[in-house]
Amino acid sequence: MTFASIIVNLIIPTGFKSPCNMERIEYLERQQHTSLMKNDNEKDKDSELQDEAKRLQDQIKDVKQELKEVQDKCRHPKEELSFVEEKDSQQLRVICSVCKKVLRYPGENDLEENGYK
Ligand SMILES: [Zn+2]
Repeated sequence: MTFASIIVNLIIPTGFKSPCNMERIEYLERQQHTSLMKNDNEKDKDSELQDEAKRLQDQIKDVKQELKEVQDKCRHPKEELSFVEEKDSQQLRVICSVCKKVLRYPGENDLEENGYK
């Protein structure tokens, strides 16, 4: 006996359980069952997404570390001015042409040499 049918049994006295009311009870029971199954499916989906997000975040961390190690080995022999993503916006920075590491903020000279002034 489900919660829905208990409530319906309390509300509707036995004598009033016409075929029409019984259909209503069955409908409510079916609906409750479907909604419970839906909750389970959504929980499964959430936990799947959580695992996938965790896996990707770990991957990003590993790749960032790998990039840092490559950049640490670089002599930064050549510089260029480039837009890089910083705090969700594009910023003009002096970067290494080889390893793409951000080296510093552009000075007046950098801007002039690259036609930004
Ligand atoms: Zn470099």
